[in-house]
Amino acid sequence: MNITHIEHIGIAVSDLTEAIAYYEGVLGLKCYNIEEVADQKVKTAFFMVGQTKIELLESTDPEGPIGTFIEKKGPGIHHMAFAVKGIEGALAEAADKGVRLIDKTPRKGAEGLHIAFLHPKSTMSVLTELCEDKSK
Ligand code: ZN
Repeated sequence: MNITHIEHIGIAVSDLTEAIAYYEGVLGLKCYNIEEVADQKVKTAFFMVGQTKIELLESTDPEGPIGTFIEKKGPGIHHMAFAVKGIEGALAEAADKGVRLIDKTPRKGAEGLHIAFLHPKSTMSVLTELCEDKSK
């Protein structure tokens, strides 16, 4: 597949306000967007670091994917997202090579990206997201 860079790193946090205060106050980064993604049951906050983003994820529902992650493992790094060219082709190639797909076809993520997740059982235990900005 054609990966161009790390698009973002997703970090599960229990309190978005407290986490933003750390990223801004200590690391000196600037939160440029806060967005609720209803079908993922999360509220997200974004920071730019070079061409890579940090995506903070606060659960809006204890039954949602971030809610259950924090319940099981506590807050921390949740997933890594690669920017790819041709996400459909990348998914087909991964499936071809025996990777278990969480999303067989891309869906809409935050910031209008087309996203799809690969199962951590197939990715050295790192939940991996592929994403493509089709507006570029
Ligand atoms: Zn993500």
